[in-house]
Amino acid sequence: MFDAIAIDGDTARVVGGAVRNTLLGEPVGDVDIATTALPQTVMERAKAAGLKPIPTGIEHGTITVVSGGTPYEVTTLREDVETFGRHAVVRFSRDWQADAARRDFTMNALYADPDGAIHDPTGEGHADCLARRVRFIGDPHARIREDYLRILRFFRFHAHYGSGAIDAAGLSAVIAAREGIRQLSGERVGHEIRRILPAPYAVETVGVMAETGIIEIAFGGVVRLEDFAHLHRLKDFAAEAGDAILRLAALSCFVQEDVDRLFERLRLSNAEAGRMALVLVAASSFSPALDDIACRERLYRLGHETAIDAALLAWCRVAAGAQDQSWRRLIVSLRAQTVPVFPVAGRDLLALGMKPGPGLGEALRAIEADWIASGFTLGRDALLASV
Ligand code: ATP
Ligand code: MG
Repeated sequence: MFDAIAIDGDTARVVGGAVRNTLLGEPVGDVDIATTALPQTVMERAKAAGLKPIPTGIEHGTITVVSGGTPYEVTTLREDVETFGRHAVVRFSRDWQADAARRDFTMNALYADPDGAIHDPTGEGHADCLARRVRFIGDPHARIREDYLRILRFFRFHAHYGSGAIDAAGLSAVIAAREGIRQLSGERVGHEIRRILPAPYAVETVGVMAETGIIEIAFGGVVRLEDFAHLHRLKDFAAEAGDAILRLAALSCFVQEDVDRLFERLRLSNAEAGRMALVLVAASSFSPALDDIACRERLYRLGHETAIDAALLAWCRVAAGAQDQSWRRLIVSLRAQTVPVFPVAGRDLLALGMKPGPGLGEALRAIEADWIASGFTLGRDALLASV
């Protein structure tokens, strides 16, 4: 890959998340590569080396090169000609310093040679990265005005890495510029929110976002500060619990029409919105008073994951829940149980001579009701004997 592109005086280096995460011992997601080679040259050299180049963003200088089944985003160095930022006039460049200056945070402007040598054009990235400090490159106010998404990216990286105090200069700049978030598309906001919520320091970070009014703006007004307490409890009760959707549900314990607006604002997929709506509704059917059969019924109707998510959400809505061991027992018991499998199918009824049609579905539902009423004890033969 590097051997193919970094020839004839050109250089290629890994940049961004892959370098940052390697330094921090965190798993590496996608690999971005920065190179002095022009996009057309990258295409030609990759092809000549038998690799598969795809011009995914060639107008911005990005070619996706697939090597050994892994896609690499290879982007030619860029520098600003007129103004800085996403909408600036840019040109391709061979200047690593200029390329670094266009990036958002010092920890994201580290470059690594294939042999692992690190280059730090800002001079601050390496130390900031190791200290897990998220700091803007250049003047935070100016950098945010170029692209308001950087406000949410600031919180995203803090939620992932910021075990320490949040950078004061960055925080005051994001607060001052927060109204700019309204100009961002739902896709871009939703993408960042999905990445903030499951992060290790999400609760602390969302707390800061809530106190500074940024969550409210990002969510289009549909969140109340008191909902933040639910997210806090979710983390306290079950630190490992909560993908982005469950954590979003914890932040959204409000009326139905607002939830729909939130789905729209964050451009949740139908599957995500459906799961969140189901968890929100199902939560009200959980309490620590449920007996074993009632638990199994919920597991059967909701499936394992949704039932546990709904129970966790119900728990975090109860202010005194943390002290109440009965909630913990409920979750433990749900986790330990298997989902009952209905032992009768339509073909069993057909085999008994029933005709296909709506009557068959009704009969099946009646048998299912008997089965649930039996506490899931009746087997197939016993259930069919009653038909
Ligand atoms: P991840 O591990 O989540 O992919 P990443 O740092 O690689 O993190 P990307 O969104 O893949 O994040 O972006 C790659 C790099 O491009 C960043 O590290 C950063 O240097 C630069 N970058 C991305 N988005 C912006 C932006 N909005 N403003 C400035 N630089 C950006
Ligand atoms: Mg990346």
